[in-house]
Amino acid sequence: MKFSPENYRIPDSKSSSFIDVEEIETILQQAVSSKKMVEQIIQKALNKNRLTLQDTAVLLNANDPESIQKIKNGARKLKEAIYGNRIVLFAPLYVGNKCLNNCKYCGFRASNTEAIRTTLNDQELIEQVEALEDNGQKRLILVYGEHPDYSPEFIAHTVKTVYGVRKGNGEIRRVNINAAPLSIEGFKTVKESGIGTYQIFQETYHPEAYKKYHPSGAKKDYNNRLTSLDRAMEAGIDDVGIGALFGLYDWRFEVMGLVRHVNHLEACFNVGPHTISFPRLQDASTFKQDAKFKVSDEDFTRIVAILRLAVPYTGMILTAREPEAIRKEVLQFGVSQIDGGTKIELGKYAEKETEIEQNLNREQFKINDDRSLNQVIDELLDEDYLPSFCTACYRLGRTGEHFMEFSVPGFIKRFCSTNAILTLAEYIMDYATPSTAEKGWKVIEKNLVDLAKFQNTDELKNRIERIKNGERDLYF
Ligand code: SAM
Ligand code: SF4
Repeated sequence: MKFSPENYRIPDSKSSSFIDVEEIETILQQAVSSKKMVEQIIQKALNKNRLTLQDTAVLLNANDPESIQKIKNGARKLKEAIYGNRIVLFAPLYVGNKCLNNCKYCGFRASNTEAIRTTLNDQELIEQVEALEDNGQKRLILVYGEHPDYSPEFIAHTVKTVYGVRKGNGEIRRVNINAAPLSIEGFKTVKESGIGTYQIFQETYHPEAYKKYHPSGAKKDYNNRLTSLDRAMEAGIDDVGIGALFGLYDWRFEVMGLVRHVNHLEACFNVGPHTISFPRLQDASTFKQDAKFKVSDEDFTRIVAILRLAVPYTGMILTAREPEAIRKEVLQFGVSQIDGGTKIELGKYAEKETEIEQNLNREQFKINDDRSLNQVIDELLDEDYLPSFCTACYRLGRTGEHFMEFSVPGFIKRFCSTNAILTLAEYIMDYATPSTAEKGWKVIEKNLVDLAKFQNTDELKNRIERIKNGERDLYF
């Protein structure tokens, strides 16, 4: 479905600001939410129609328990109807924490003199990647502070280094990036190294709040950050990830900002973001968050359900910042990617015992989930999810068209579910503990039976046998 920008006060043009605070506030104030309207809007989403900012505001203003429950049920239904049961797994890898910015909430801010500054050298990077491969990871997101050392050329070099690491049957097949905004030239340099998604969070879409939290350094410039993914798209990176750091400002405003950002990319580039992230602010070294904007667990789960309904064909990423119970609930609302076995302290994946103490000053903030990748996979299997390390679309050039998964009939079954099964089979053969392996084969069996109702599964079964016999990296 095409987005039509004429509904907005600011017409969309590339690389110019598209957030109008007054417009968003007016829409939020004017959106009267009745039970009937909520039901109609949920139905609109279930009919695969994209929600407008006005529709989204109605859902955001629905405060009665019955409507909130209906929104959550709607998100669950949409997820089941469209996304199936696969969950893609990845791990973040912090490459360097030097930073010239002073984001008040971040342990890596320049003014935090306690932080031990490190940039992994090639050898250290290789050791980290080998350790991640030994755990079974296939997809990484590399994370960098904002510093002249982390030039586009440096980022490109680290990406190529990561792709080059092979340990046993291990290899990293997709490297995504979370780093500071670049120029179009800079994005081109990084693109050439073969990245998957370029991810940048706006943190807060509210310009005044943004100013308060970003007092100095290049990140002070709200518009430069807001339009950065336009430049990425201009540079040919068509998989981009957006996000807001929930807890800096009113969560309703941030959801509207995210939806507006999706609309903007669709209007200017005909394709929305590949993923949306919604990290919740965590306490970090000497930073305590403003209680007024703290997002409760209840509100957080509402945010995820509303986003699922509002932008049905965008992948949603949940990170290890969230505790296990919250993860379990929002997985049902259509989160499509989670990280597993995450360590955000620099150099921690391949750590030696003696280095543990030093690492206390190397982390950016506290995370609430320290389960290993195998534990995360084991629990996903218990809940009947299909853990996936699939990287097929990006490697076959099926990028920038994430909505295909949503809109092309049978796409999820034909590609996502089958590739999830193949990558899970690889994981079982190479890395799973015996009890996880047993559960994994059962889940594969069950999914094969389900798939056989819709398509011929002979070739899929044939490839599973080839994996059992030692072949790797088979995909559709
Ligand atoms: N330096 C780059 C930047 O700021 O975009 C990329 C790396 S930065 C470490 C990645 C993300 O970490 C930020 O965009 C921010 O949303 C998140 N972050 C920083 N401090 C956080 C905190 N205290 N709690 C949760 N997330 C935080
Ligand atoms: Fe630096 Fe990014 Fe942390 Fe801000 S969020 S201080 S830019 S690493």
